[in-house]
Amino acid sequence: MIDLKSMSQQEITDLMRSLGQPAFRGKQVFIWLHKGARSFEEMTNLPKPLRESLAQTCQLTPPKVARKQISRQDGTIKYLWELADGNCIESVLMRYHHGNTVCISSQVGCRMGCAFCASTIAGKVRNLTPAEMLDQVLFTQLDSGLEISNIVLMGIGEPMDNLDAVLKFLELVNHPDGMNIGMRHISLSTCGVIPGIRRLAELGLQLTLSVSLHAPDSETRSKIMPVNRAYDVEELFAACHDYFRKTGRRISFEYAMIDGVTDHDWQADLLARKIQGMPGHVNLIPLNDVVESPLKPSKRVAAFQRRLESHGITATVRRSLGGDIDASCGQLRRKAMEEAKKGEDSQ
Ligand code: SAH
Repeated sequence: MIDLKSMSQQEITDLMRSLGQPAFRGKQVFIWLHKGARSFEEMTNLPKPLRESLAQTCQLTPPKVARKQISRQDGTIKYLWELADGNCIESVLMRYHHGNTVCISSQVGCRMGCAFCASTIAGKVRNLTPAEMLDQVLFTQLDSGLEISNIVLMGIGEPMDNLDAVLKFLELVNHPDGMNIGMRHISLSTCGVIPGIRRLAELGLQLTLSVSLHAPDSETRSKIMPVNRAYDVEELFAACHDYFRKTGRRISFEYAMIDGVTDHDWQADLLARKIQGMPGHVNLIPLNDVVESPLKPSKRVAAFQRRLESHGITATVRRSLGGDIDASCGQLRRKAMEEAKKGEDSQ
C-alpha cells in the first residue's frame, strides 16, 4: 500500500501523472489529505474511478482516539492514539496565552534509555512515519476544535533517531496548502544526538532546537542519560555553539531538576560557563515523578535559577500543565500498557 499522506505535494503530483491524471490533481489530493479526509470517497472533486483506484492502492488510516483525558486544572488535553497496526502513541494539547501548542511523538517507544523517562522503559518499537506525525497535529486540532499554532516534538521518542521522517513531516506541516505552521512555531527536542544537530545546522531551518541537557558534567550526565556515553557533553556543547553560529538561532536547554543529582550550585556554575558565548536559554523542569524511577524532584529549583541568573544566563521554570492527567512524557501509554498486561494476566 502507498503511504500517500507521507508524500510531498510534488511526489503526489508525480503519482497522479503516472496514473494519467492532470498535474492539478496532486494539489487537490494534497489539500484533502491535509484537511483530514478519512476516506477517498470524501474527495468529491476527484473523478470517481480515480477515487476507487486510490482506495485500492493507497492507505489512509487516520489514528483512533484510544483515550482522551482533559485536565480540570488548565484544559490540557492528552490523547492516546491507536495507530493502524495497533500500537499506541501520545500527544498533548497545551493551551498557552501565545496559542495552542501540541506536543507530538516521533517514535513508538524510545531506545535512548534516560533514567528518569517513562517513554523509554519498554524500549523502542518502531519509527513513526511522516503521516503519523502529521496526523497527531491534524486530528488533535479536528477532535478538540482548537486551532493549533505551535508544535513541539517533545513527546515519545527521539526525533534525531528518526530524522528523515521528521524532516519530511516538517515539510508537510509547513506547507501553505496544508496546515501551514511556520518553522518559527515549531520546536524540536533532542537528548543530544550530535550528527542530527549538525545535519539540522546545515539545513538552517528557522525552528527552535531544544537540547535535553539535564547535567553539565560528563559523569552525572552519563549516569542518567546513556546517550552521553556515545556523544559526550563536551562535544555536545561544541555542536551547539556551531549550531548557533550557522543558524543564528538561540538554543533552549532543557534541564530537569533532580534531587541531589543535577541541582548542585557547582552544576549551575558549570552550565553557565558552557553556555557562555551564545544566547542560550535554560528551561528548568521540575522533575515529573515517574513511579518506576528512584529519582526524585529537587527542592532547589529557585536557588538554581538565581545562581544561573547571577552569571547572566536567562532561566525560566517550566510551568507544569496537566498534573492531574499523567501528562508527562510516556506516562499515559505506560499506564495503558500496564492495564492491558494486567487484563491478559487475569484471563
Ligand atoms: N527525546 C527527545 C524528546 C522527548 S522527551 C529529548 O530527549 O529531548 C521531552 C523532554 O521531557 C526531554 O527534555 C526529556 O528529558 C524530558 N523528560 C522526560 N521524562 C521526564 C521527567 N520524568 N521529568 C521531567 N522531564 C522529563
